[in-house]
Amino acid sequence: MRTPLVVGNWKMNGSLSDNLSLLQKLTSQWQAAAVEMAVCPPAVYLAQAQALLAGTSIQLGAQDASQHSSGAYTGECSVAMLQEFGCQFVIIGHSERRQYHAESDQLVAEKCLAIKASGLTPIVCVGESLAEREGGATLAVIQRQVQAVLDHVGSEQLAGVVIAYEPIWAIGTGLTASPEQAQEVHAAIRQQLQALGASTRILYGGSVKAGNAKELFAMADIDGALVGGASLIAEDFLAIGTAAAQ
Ligand code: PEP
Repeated sequence: MRTPLVVGNWKMNGSLSDNLSLLQKLTSQWQAAAVEMAVCPPAVYLAQAQALLAGTSIQLGAQDASQHSSGAYTGECSVAMLQEFGCQFVIIGHSERRQYHAESDQLVAEKCLAIKASGLTPIVCVGESLAEREGGATLAVIQRQVQAVLDHVGSEQLAGVVIAYEPIWAIGTGLTASPEQAQEVHAAIRQQLQALGASTRILYGGSVKAGNAKELFAMADIDGALVGGASLIAEDFLAIGTAAAQ
């Protein structure tokens, strides 16, 4: 039995006052206990979010972490630092980081190992571009991205990891993979993970909204969502969480 998980990726959005309002709405209105909910604000707001989420059932995550534990890495945050601010999850390998920060499969795998070694839960994002999908390369691309993590971390160490399938063409575009398109990729990832697959939560991400969440969550291998834009609107994020509970 995999507990559904719905994670909000705020990206580079928010302000002290907007965050206060959003988190107050989420914590006062979230009730469904059969679903895990988490938010991932920008790192500078983790202390604020930690204080506002204390004692609630909404968990906290970060949008990235360094593969290094400390040292001369300007601009980076270590996993231990994120842990001090109450993070349970760390998103890694988001396509925006792969694209704008040239993060390779190998680097994502190294980050995954560092996060697992500290006892936090990595949310490893994988996904194909539109050109790759149209060229029939979707499953090969996903397989390569997942295999890099498997090879580096090892399947025993990887237990508890969360994978997020996020087709790049569906992120922030309003386009969503159909439930069948997403299910095909989720099933392939589960199969690739072999024995680990049965217990691994595989989230879908890419323009998930209150209006399409239910049909995505109805698929056998979709265990929740990584939500960008809709996670900034309390009512929408709560509705997605509620859809995951059904
Ligand atoms: C994301 O950034 O992980 C994402 C899925 O964004 P959106 O929901 O806005 O497409």
